[in-house]
Amino acid sequence: MLVGLYGGTFDPIHSGHLHAAQAAREELNLSSVHLILSARPGHRSAPAGDTAHRWQMLQLACSASPGLIADDSELQRSGLSYTIDTLIEWTRVHPDALPCWIMGQDAFATLPSWHRWLELMQWCNIVVLRRPGDERVEPEAVQLLCQSHEVDNMDTQKIGQVYRVHRPMLEISATDIRERLKKAEPVKNLLADPVYSYIRQHHLYEYSEKAI
Ligand code: ATP
Repeated sequence: MLVGLYGGTFDPIHSGHLHAAQAAREELNLSSVHLILSARPGHRSAPAGDTAHRWQMLQLACSASPGLIADDSELQRSGLSYTIDTLIEWTRVHPDALPCWIMGQDAFATLPSWHRWLELMQWCNIVVLRRPGDERVEPEAVQLLCQSHEVDNMDTQKIGQVYRVHRPMLEISATDIRERLKKAEPVKNLLADPVYSYIRQHHLYEYSEKAI
């Protein structure tokens, strides 16, 4: 059984994330996709949004989207949130499932900077989402990984494969949403309804003189 694990800071979770998770689930026939909130990412800057708010929004978004599960396993651990640790722990708890770690191509290009990155292939398949407008050339180490591990069709009985989702993604980013909210620009059509209401109710990401 293939299961999707989709890690992110989700600051906030937006329609691009939900669309991506559903596209991967459908294309690869994943039984479910766990959206894992990264509490303290080791390979990128700390998120701007409060962890409790990010977790509430993730739960709201997943409860309205069939097959998606909000996962707090990285919140339960102390220290930096390393993917390799999450995968090892996840496999211990779910020995019968084959995890597919889902990530955007921007994140995939940074893979060599991840903690113990070469070991990831022993624990999961990697599923890459093509983000519109992103024409980056992947670093040599990533190209080498793809030469030996990339497949056109996922073998549902194996791990250690790299697969690129064919379906197009939506051009939405959390950075853009936070910028828009700071400038009081509309964001309603970029977010699930309950997430939009939550952000408004708690005045998240708004311009504040105190923050200057
Ligand atoms: P930020 O703009 O703050 O970097 P983000 O929108 O990229 O945020 P993250 O929480 O960092 O969101 O992303 C989690 C994962 O989702 C990453 O692997 C990222 O590449 C991917 N991702 C984010 N937005 C999209 C999108 N619109 N389509 C496909 N993948 C996405």
